[in-house]
Amino acid sequence: MLIGCHGLVWTGNFDETGFDRAVTQSLEAGFTLLEIPLLEPDSFDVAAAKRSLARNPIAISASLGQSADTDISSEDPDVVAAGERKLNTALEILSELGSEYFVGVLYSQLAKYDAPATALGRQNSLDVLRRVAERAGALGIRVGLEVVNRYETNLFNTAKQALAYLDDLGHPNVGVHLDTYHMNIEESDMVGPVLACGNRISYVHIGESHRGYLGSGTVDFDGFFRALSLIGYTGPIAFESFSSAVVNPDLSRSLAVWRNLWNDSADLGAHANAFIRGKIRAVETIALH
Ligand code: MN
Repeated sequence: MLIGCHGLVWTGNFDETGFDRAVTQSLEAGFTLLEIPLLEPDSFDVAAAKRSLARNPIAISASLGQSADTDISSEDPDVVAAGERKLNTALEILSELGSEYFVGVLYSQLAKYDAPATALGRQNSLDVLRRVAERAGALGIRVGLEVVNRYETNLFNTAKQALAYLDDLGHPNVGVHLDTYHMNIEESDMVGPVLACGNRISYVHIGESHRGYLGSGTVDFDGFFRALSLIGYTGPIAFESFSSAVVNPDLSRSLAVWRNLWNDSADLGAHANAFIRGKIRAVETIALH
C-alpha cells in the first residue's frame, strides 16, 4: 500500500533542487509515494524530475486543479480545448515518470464559482474526461476525480454527487478521489461516503480540518480508516498539508493558504506518516477481536 505526501509539504518549487528535496525528504519521513502538483505541465522540467528519480526512486502521483483558462466545464470551446491539452500534457509527463496515478480537480476550475454548473459545462467536462480516461488507460495511468468543497468547485461537492458524475462518464478507468479535509466540510460523516463509493475509490487524501498536523483538528480519522478497511481499500493514501511556510505562487492562492500552521516540514511529514500507518495498523487488529 502506497503511503504518500504532497510535494508542497517540502517545496513550492519543482526545479531539480526542489524535486530532489521533495523526494529525499519524503523517503526520510517514511513515505513511499510523492504527489507532485502539476498546475503548469507546460513548464514542468520532466528531464530534471527523471534525473532526480534515478538518484532516489519513489512512486509518483500527480494532481492538478484547472485554471480559468483551462476549465473543461466552461461553455467556451477554446477554454475547454485548452483544458484537454493541459490534461494530455500532464499524462505525457506522468507516463515519462512511470506514474500510475493522475488525480485532483481535473474536471473543473479549482476556484469559488459565483453560479451553479451549467448542463452544457457539465457535458463538456464529461466529454473531455472520457477521452482523457481512455488515453490514461492506454498509458497505465488511473484517474481519480477529487471531491472538493463548495468553495473550490461547483460541479460536485459530495461523494454521492461524484458517483452520479462517474455514472454519466461511464468509463472504468476513472474513480473517486476522496479527501478528508473536504469531506469534513461537506459530508454528513466520514463512513457513509466511503461505503457508498466502495471499490470506486481510486485515491485518498488525508488532511486535517485546518490542513495542519493530523490529530490537531476535528476530522474523525478513526471512522474514516475503519471505513476504508471495511471496503478493503488498498490504493494510494497521500497526506496533504499546507502552510505559509512553504509557498507555491499558484497553488497557495487557489487553496487560500494564508496562515502558518507549521514551520518544520520534516517533523510534520514524519508525524503524518506515523499517524496514517498507525491508524491502518490499529484497524487491521480489529480482525483479531
Ligand atoms: Mn486534496
